[in-house]
Amino acid sequence: MLTIKDKTFVPFITSESIQARIQELAEQINQEYAGKQPLLVVILNGAFLFAADLAKHLTVPCEITFLRVSSYKGTESTGQLKEILGLTESIIDRDLIVIEDIVDTGKTLHDICNQLQAQKPASLTIATLLYKPEALQKPLDLHYVGFEIENRFVLGYGLDYDGLGRNTPDILVLE
Ligand code: 5GP
Ligand code: MG
Ligand code: MG
Repeated sequence: MLTIKDKTFVPFITSESIQARIQELAEQINQEYAGKQPLLVVILNGAFLFAADLAKHLTVPCEITFLRVSSYKGTESTGQLKEILGLTESIIDRDLIVIEDIVDTGKTLHDICNQLQAQKPASLTIATLLYKPEALQKPLDLHYVGFEIENRFVLGYGLDYDGLGRNTPDILVLE
C-alpha cells in the first residue's frame, strides 16, 4: 500500500509479472524485427522504466531516442494538439517502435503517431505496457501490449500521481 498526498494506492501488478511479460514482448520484437535495426522512440516521462527493461532483452541492434509532448490548445475547438519536443534525428526510412507507458483515451499516441508518420518512416509500431480498452477514443493499432487493464487510475513503474510514485517496481491502483 502507498499513500501519496490524499490518495491511497493498493497492489495491482507485481514487479515479477511485469518483468515476465516484458521478456515475452521482447522475444516477440526480436522475432518480428530480425534483420532490422529499429529505432525505439520512448515517450517521456512515463515510459522510462518500461523502455529500459524492454531494451535490455532486445537482441536486434537498436537505437533509442526520447521525446516529450507538450499539450497546447489548438486554434480549432476540437481539443488539444500535442507538440513533439526533443526528436532531433531523422526518422525517414527508419523502423520505429514507439514506446509508451499507458494508452488511455489514445489521444496522445494518435497525435504523436500522425506527426511521426508525416516524416515518412519505413514502418511504425506501438509498444505500450498498459492499455485501457474501455477508455479508448481514437483508433490505434497497438502491436505490443503488456497488460489490458480496467479503466482505473494506476501508478508506479514509471507512472505518476502528481509527479510522484514513478519509482516503484510494482504497479498499484487507486483504492
Ligand atoms: P491518453 O492520451 O491515452 O488519454 O493518455 C495517455 C497519458 O495519460 C499516459 O501517457 C499517461 O501519462 C496518462 N495516463 C493515462 N491513464 C493513466 C493512469 O491510469 N495513471 C497514470 N499515472 N497516468 C495515466
Ligand atoms: Mg505516457
Ligand atoms: Mg502523468
